[in-house]
Amino acid sequence: MRPALRPLLRATVFAGLVLVSACLEGRSEADCGPDALGVSRTLMLTRESPAPYDLLEPGEVILTFDDGPAWHRTGRVLNELSKECTQATFFLQGNRVQPWTGIAKSLREAGHSVGSHSWDHANLAELPLDEAVANAKQGQDAVSRAIGQETPLFRYPFIATTPELTKAIRAEGLIDVTVTVDGADWTGNSPEQAVAQILEMLEQHDRRGMILLHDPFPKSAARTRLLLQSLKSEGYRVVALEQPQG
Ligand SMILES: [Zn+2]
Repeated sequence: MRPALRPLLRATVFAGLVLVSACLEGRSEADCGPDALGVSRTLMLTRESPAPYDLLEPGEVILTFDDGPAWHRTGRVLNELSKECTQATFFLQGNRVQPWTGIAKSLREAGHSVGSHSWDHANLAELPLDEAVANAKQGQDAVSRAIGQETPLFRYPFIATTPELTKAIRAEGLIDVTVTVDGADWTGNSPEQAVAQILEMLEQHDRRGMILLHDPFPKSAARTRLLLQSLKSEGYRVVALEQPQG
């Protein structure tokens, strides 16, 4: 490379980094204005807490995203949440976090909470108990290292568990965060179909729920945008989960 081009390249790279960090940063309430969905209140879960669904009032939802991180797709979902000044909980896979530590960190920096989702998305309910627990712990360790603090929030791959596994996972200090409303975005349905299904299930469940979506899919950002707009127009309030400390 010609020496004269180096400062230009450096400036371009720096501008790119500034742009990326601006996209990933959570906006302040002031940037969003009064029409933003926002966050109505926060909940701190402990190992003794009832299931989060039981702590919700009618009209309240908790947003969760599984199976990330997935580089720019997670960043785009983050951007949609940021536009509405709202917060979600991301359940990350240990083996995906390893190459993308920066994304896991950026989720925390934007104010979202982060939990683990096993090491490699194996169906833990079908593994021998000791292997299943080791897999969950390996995932938790990788995610905790990436975000710089131990996170006990946990979600089972495929939401699959057994009474023995649930007991063993809790004995390890993990807090399993359940799902009551599945957007079924993994089936390849359109954003419109996924959001219609979510709204219908919320109506069937006393207008409250723990909503499950995924951030690694091509239409994840569009689905998130539509969901946030629909929740707002239907008068729902978002409850955020606080990040527990170890
Ligand atoms: Zn999953």
